Amino acid sequence: MDYLTENIDSLNQKLAAGTVSADELLQASLDQIDAHKNLNAWITVDKDAKPDADLDFKASKLAGVPIAIKDNIVTKGLRTTAASHILDNFVPVYDATVIKRLHKAQATIFGKTNMDEFAMGSSNENSYFGLVRNPWNLDHVPGGSSGGSAAAIASGDVVAALGSDTGGSIRQPAAFNGIFGIKPTYGRVSRWGLIAFGSSLDQIGVLTKRVRDAAEVLNVIAGPDDHDATVSERPVPDFTAALGKDVKGLRVAVPKEYMSDAVDADVRAAVQKQIDALQAAGAIINEVTLPYTKYVVPTYYLIASSEASSNLQRYDGIRYGFRAKDTKNLMDVYLKSRSEGFGEEVKRRIMLGSFALSAGYYDAYFMQASRVRTLICRDFDNIFKDNDVIVGPTTTTPAFKIGEEIQDPVKMYNNDILTISANLAGLPAASVPAGLSDDGLPVGFQIMGQRFDEAHVFQTADFIECSNKFYQQKPAGLED
Ligand code: GLN
Repeated sequence: MDYLTENIDSLNQKLAAGTVSADELLQASLDQIDAHKNLNAWITVDKDAKPDADLDFKASKLAGVPIAIKDNIVTKGLRTTAASHILDNFVPVYDATVIKRLHKAQATIFGKTNMDEFAMGSSNENSYFGLVRNPWNLDHVPGGSSGGSAAAIASGDVVAALGSDTGGSIRQPAAFNGIFGIKPTYGRVSRWGLIAFGSSLDQIGVLTKRVRDAAEVLNVIAGPDDHDATVSERPVPDFTAALGKDVKGLRVAVPKEYMSDAVDADVRAAVQKQIDALQAAGAIINEVTLPYTKYVVPTYYLIASSEASSNLQRYDGIRYGFRAKDTKNLMDVYLKSRSEGFGEEVKRRIMLGSFALSAGYYDAYFMQASRVRTLICRDFDNIFKDNDVIVGPTTTTPAFKIGEEIQDPVKMYNNDILTISANLAGLPAASVPAGLSDDGLPVGFQIMGQRFDEAHVFQTADFIECSNKFYQQKPAGLED
């Protein structure tokens, strides 16, 4: 079974025809994971997992299909660590809503993918369980924080994975690994059971090789949920209906800030090719401007860190997770458990967030960032008055080298300049492969849509996928 050339529909047909069984599919995933151990894409794999009994291949395309889950989404009975020492012995007693829905669709859930600790990072170097390698070049990072999910797809361990995206954590690793990734509209998918980072920004989404596969998984996990009041009651359309549609007349905005010198020339060239292809097919290309782009990084890092510092208060060594030894009193338990349990980057965010929320600085930092956030949202709303999608590069560079940026947090944060806005404004956004850089590393093409208009994002991504057929390429770092 070569998952690099399969997709959910092809697997479904083979399962229905009986040419392959769900047990064999699961075994194929386990074998692939074993063969790609050097990538370190997985934290926990349950070798005793079993596909559902009584699979109904007609009722569900996901029936019997193995799906990878980022390790910040809780899975009943399957260890969930958020790649942190503080949760490294945590076995949840319930399933996240998205997991319940995947189970209902009879997908096979058997393992958890590596990530940056608590989803904080852009390189997957912040994991307590070690870094992840990029299958296109093992000396490079896979991006983050959903680096494990992205590497698992790019190397063919599975055809679909769940990830989470607070400031780019699905799209940036998708771009770095030459695969597709979509963060739906804020409020499209329930966050119940997603280990919280920045609650006003977090959204669960899907990473796949093929655009259609992501639409099929999103069909299953999206929609209202009594456990999460931020999920919209709006009906969920069939996302596959947007695929294969003509892009003639599609109004495509290209912000000039996204194609500036700050973006590597080869990345820009690969992105421009896709824009030209859209234009040649009859899309209307409009150059636009997003003047607040220069403020998105500080705005995001203040808001995300503030929310994180509050969300992470619950890890105190008392209720669950790691507890430090040799403690003298209750305060000592809190102090030592948190000091020893959290990694460097998580502590940095807790300190930054606590500072930004503290009495004397709240107005100057958190409030101010919230105001700028509103202005950033307006920037986007204005563009969507006359456009269906906004496109550009997903990242300013292709995957950087392991160790290259980890010592310089500001440089690392600045990497996120192109992905963060979609989270601040709650927009659906995806990354689809555009081509290769001069160094043979994948380049991502980002597509953003108006809130709850995933349809235009899927339509555009599908067009790009069909026009450049990047999915036919195999990562150069994989052994034959
Ligand atoms: N790189 C960003 C951060 O570290 C985004 C992470 C994410 O989307 N979870 O905050």
